[in-house]
Amino acid sequence: MKIELSRDKVHNEFAKKVEWISGQNLFACYQCGNCTAGCPVAFAMDLGPHEVIRYTLLGLEEEVLSVNTFWLCASCLQCSSRCPKGIDIARVMDALRMVILRKKERRDYLQISEFPEGFLERVPQIAFISGFRKFLS
Ligand code: SF4
Ligand code: SF4
Repeated sequence: MKIELSRDKVHNEFAKKVEWISGQNLFACYQCGNCTAGCPVAFAMDLGPHEVIRYTLLGLEEEVLSVNTFWLCASCLQCSSRCPKGIDIARVMDALRMVILRKKERRDYLQISEFPEGFLERVPQIAFISGFRKFLS
């Protein structure tokens, strides 16, 4: 995929929205990969947390919102504690969940009966329980 970089591209509306909701400065990220290296569920993610930040800064909203990364995030804060730039990546993951729930689903709850067949067997348990905590709080 060819991506032309420009000031407008990296200051895109999607990145601004994620920054605004999360309160984090995504531009501080220098792609060291520490967050993804420490994430206990990175093995199951379509994109690692550092890639999600990169894609967001490139304005690839559709690609970012279609991956499973922020749904699998268990909010364990491992990434946030490892980031040398002080970015709270767990908050970024929360912000992405909020963006998609507001945009597409327009809801703030989960229906177990709507999960695709086999989903419960595949999803890491910690992510599943964490999801319930988030949606029920
Ligand atoms: S908070 Fe989420 S993204 Fe960060 S290390 Fe934990 S599971 Fe991975
Ligand atoms: S640890 Fe921080 S600086 Fe490094 S890639 Fe992750 S978000 Fe970026």
